[in-house]
Amino acid sequence: MAIIKVHDKSFDIYLSEETILQRVKELAAVINKDYTGKRPLFIAILNGSFMFATDLFKQLTIEAELCFIKLASYKGMKSSGNVVTSIGLEDDLFGRDVIIVEDIVDTGKTLHNFLPKLVHQQPKSLKIAALLHKSEATEYPLEINYIGFDIPNKFVVGYGLDYDGLGRNLKEIYQVI
Ligand code: 5GP
Repeated sequence: MAIIKVHDKSFDIYLSEETILQRVKELAAVINKDYTGKRPLFIAILNGSFMFATDLFKQLTIEAELCFIKLASYKGMKSSGNVVTSIGLEDDLFGRDVIIVEDIVDTGKTLHNFLPKLVHQQPKSLKIAALLHKSEATEYPLEINYIGFDIPNKFVVGYGLDYDGLGRNLKEIYQVI
């Protein structure tokens, strides 16, 4: 048991650093295979995905590009749901192999609202890599091509994910008690 406190909530360790990094390596190995001879563009969604995107990208042996974009704000322990706009997407996606990199897919609403904007640019292919998926919480079904861990519908922090701004620096992932 490793209990930590972030703001007013207690969290227990759920995924160790070693477990996360091992799984990220496995995902990268599959992506390396799937994209051999291609040059995919990874679009990582800030803020939460910065650690996952970094560790995943370091494990790639194929030619690949990476950009970070910002979508919606997320406050407290419930998804705000409203994707306002995307900031920082300067690349032309026409004819590109695109992989979206997300920290966590919860209801699916964020990506459900955002994907049409990407599809509109006519990429050659469009796939999703998510470190965490709360499949029980799905309200907007999505095909997630690369999933790190399917997790229960409980709030988590760490490894880039925050609770009201804190907890992103934790190397492990913690689940609310
Ligand atoms: P969705 O639109 O799929 O419901 O939610 C996606 C976004 O909600 C994620 O990118 C993340 O910002 C936030 N989110 C959902 N569940 C959690 C969670 O358990 N912990 C944290 N820190 N953020 C979450």
